[in-house]
Amino acid sequence: MNDTIAAIATGMGNSGIGIIRISGKRAIEIADKIFVPKNENKKIINMSSYTAAYGIISYNNEVYDEAIALVMRAPHTYTKEDVVELDCHGGITLLKRIFELIINLGVRPADPGEFTKRAFLNGRIDMSQAEAVMDLIHAKNESAIKASVKKIQGSLRTVITDMREKILYNIAYIESALDDPENYSLDEFPHELKGVVENLLITVNKLIESSADGRLINEGIRTVIVGKPNAGKSSVLNMLLDEDRAIVTDIEGTTRDTLEEYINIDGISLNIVDTAGIRDTKDVVEKIGVDKAIDTINDADLILYIVDGSVPLNENDQTIMDKLHGKKVITIINKNDMNVVVDKLWISKNFDTKIVELSAKEKTGKDELYSILKEMFFKNELSYNDEIYITSLRHKNLLLDTRDSLNKVIESINLNMGEDFFTIDLMSAYTSLGKIIGEELEDDLVNKIFAEFCMGK
Ligand code: GDP
Repeated sequence: MNDTIAAIATGMGNSGIGIIRISGKRAIEIADKIFVPKNENKKIINMSSYTAAYGIISYNNEVYDEAIALVMRAPHTYTKEDVVELDCHGGITLLKRIFELIINLGVRPADPGEFTKRAFLNGRIDMSQAEAVMDLIHAKNESAIKASVKKIQGSLRTVITDMREKILYNIAYIESALDDPENYSLDEFPHELKGVVENLLITVNKLIESSADGRLINEGIRTVIVGKPNAGKSSVLNMLLDEDRAIVTDIEGTTRDTLEEYINIDGISLNIVDTAGIRDTKDVVEKIGVDKAIDTINDADLILYIVDGSVPLNENDQTIMDKLHGKKVITIINKNDMNVVVDKLWISKNFDTKIVELSAKEKTGKDELYSILKEMFFKNELSYNDEIYITSLRHKNLLLDTRDSLNKVIESINLNMGEDFFTIDLMSAYTSLGKIIGEELEDDLVNKIFAEFCMGK
């Protein structure tokens, strides 16, 4: 925490502008050594906070680039330390050279997420806000952006802090009453405490329930496309991908095999699983073998079952349908630009599914598919005004721990146990909630969380 850190904060590809960020006690002094302002009065050491200067990056008579220096002085900065950002040209080789120059002057390369970690350790943001920064950077759709922006602004922190205050008050009350029975009465207390804990449980349960939608928002709806050969799986996929709102993302560090494709539909994402399989062969179920198919289908949030509407169903369809029981399925009767002969009634009798007709060839029928999708997954319409979505498994698990502890308090009250029993479980609920906002977290866990961040953030 005492040293000064730097990183290339922009993406590792050539671009118009590339930013190098320096944070720490020596940020201003070091930036000053390499930055020569056009206007002599604008030396970095003399600049006031939130001002910018134009000049060149130069050291030992060598000019590296022209740049704009932004000076932000502690404590009102991202890290609460002195921060200098150098807006250079965005060539990656160029940025690396300037970065190396800065490192050679005694600055340490920042670890991934270290700027945000400093913001956390210096108390500017809590852990739920820091994690939301990461969610925002990785957001794949508009809903994920909205959900994380709210958390960055402290929505989750507020709810958690309120709950912790109530718990702490009650712990303190019990302790005081045990110490000083003359002034604090515990007569009606268990009854009152039960009311408080029940209310806390309502909030905790609501947060836990939100995690189902939270995962779908963040990771997208895991979608598997199945159907017999020639039903039109690739065509439907391409139709969906063709949309101007569709993005194809090659997730960094993965191979072509696990390429994930995200289709964005009005703020939600379909994460098409095993696209490679669909593209390489004509029949997913056959290609990956029955066992693997069952795994993929079981892990999916949604199955798009493509049926060729122009020919009658056959035993291939039956094999597929048999695997789809109990899953969320939308049956897409494709090729309705031709005469549709498929028996829809029979399909809906066979298993529980929504049915939509469309033509991948003529690209019609998408809107109906989208509205079915939204109705299926987000029944309560995503509302961002008062709703907080739990998107992190870490948070969810801590909320489950909190719920266990609070349930134990209720149990102890019902069994007329002594008040000191209540405090033990109240205390563990307090601790679990604290971990969500980063209090009571062990150092190595803090490091682990920030290690998942991007470089330069
Ligand atoms: P897959 O084997 O399930 O991936 O099916 P494909 O997407 O490769 O499509 C099989 C054949 O059906 C191709 O010749 C497509 O051109 C054709 N096809 C796909 N969708 C439609 C459609 O909506 N209408 C018509 N008429 N033909 C289609």
